[in-house]
Amino acid sequence: MASNVLVFAERRDGQVKRPVLETLNTARGLADADGGQVVALALGPGAGDCAAELARFGADRVLTVENPALELYAAQAYAACLAQAAKECDAGLVLVPGTLLGRDLAARAAARLETACASDLISIEFDEANGLRGKRPIYSGQAIAGVAIPTARPAVATLRPNVFAAGDGAEREAAVEPLAIEVGDDLLRVRTTEVRGSEKQDVDVAEAGIVVAGGRGLKEAEHFSLIRDLAGALGGAVGASRAVVDAGWIPHAHQVGQTGKVVSPGLYIACGISGAIQHLAGMSSSKLIVAINKDPEAPIFKVADYGIVGDLFEVVPALTEAVRKAKA
Ligand SMILES: Cc1cc2nc3c(=O)[nH]c(=O)nc-3n(C[C@H](O)[C@H](O)[C@H](O)COP(=O)(O)OP(=O)(O)OC[C@H]3O[C@@H](n4cnc5c(N)ncnc54)[C@H](O)[C@@H]3O)c2cc1C
Repeated sequence: MASNVLVFAERRDGQVKRPVLETLNTARGLADADGGQVVALALGPGAGDCAAELARFGADRVLTVENPALELYAAQAYAACLAQAAKECDAGLVLVPGTLLGRDLAARAAARLETACASDLISIEFDEANGLRGKRPIYSGQAIAGVAIPTARPAVATLRPNVFAAGDGAEREAAVEPLAIEVGDDLLRVRTTEVRGSEKQDVDVAEAGIVVAGGRGLKEAEHFSLIRDLAGALGGAVGASRAVVDAGWIPHAHQVGQTGKVVSPGLYIACGISGAIQHLAGMSSSKLIVAINKDPEAPIFKVADYGIVGDLFEVVPALTEAVRKAKA
């Protein structure tokens, strides 16, 4: 029997977040192989406006709840909507992008559906007969675990951002259908009242395709301008080790690692970062790692694809200039 795949379409400021496109494309592949449909769920005012984009990246149907109370994340209400949508479309699999919001939501929705949830997957297979099989990094990325949800339905899973391809999109149209659900006070006991940026950051480090990260080798906060310049030239985001976040050089939103964000960009450039295991936990699944460190024995070189042994105060500005020249 074919299985439908439900995808949660997270939006920020009305825009669909990039990990949603990766999740939709993955759902499309699974549904095509199994003969099912891909259904997307979008919440909040204007949810239907993103239907064309969701269709292009894989959705056959888009369920919406345009209730103004859902403009910002409300944990219980979002979980209730996702659970209701799963029942409505008879989903065998519910996929949620593994963003901060998505990880909270998926576990809550799975609890409501009294089913199992596999988190932070870096690979996934699913069909109705065999259920879900996937892989996820464990022990701070030191090992890969196989996970399976053989019988519980719908199987719920979160996908690690930047690991799955988003695809280029295709000509496809989706029917937009309002989901009938009462969002009463009982579902709004926990709600976000306001979202404030800690500072202007155009690209979220967790979702960026390129991350340039700085560590204690920068010596002082002002020198982060070198990292910002290179990130700006490459169109990437700024990351940081915990040492410099603890020192107050840069806000925690930029921290990569075990107690920061997990990133999997196409390119990660570590500048003046030693490569402690807790830092590696957040970035070792990056596709291409470049390390710049003056100590040839620094552990970061063990995970790096390219290592530059040198003084970052010379290497980083030279790289920035080279990138700018190449782009010009
Ligand atoms: C429970 C726990 C959780 C943690 N979570 C995290 C986490 O989420 N993320 C995280 O990053 N850390 C985390 N840490 C801290 C981690 O153990 C390290 O202390 C931290 O990552 C070190 O940061 P760093 O590499 O910037 O500094 P250092 O280890 O001091 O390394 C600085 C590096 O810069 C190089 N350097 C110095 N000058 C130059 C120069 N001019 N040019 C080039 N290179 C230069 C040095 O050779 C050195 O390798 C955690 C620790 C614990 C105990």
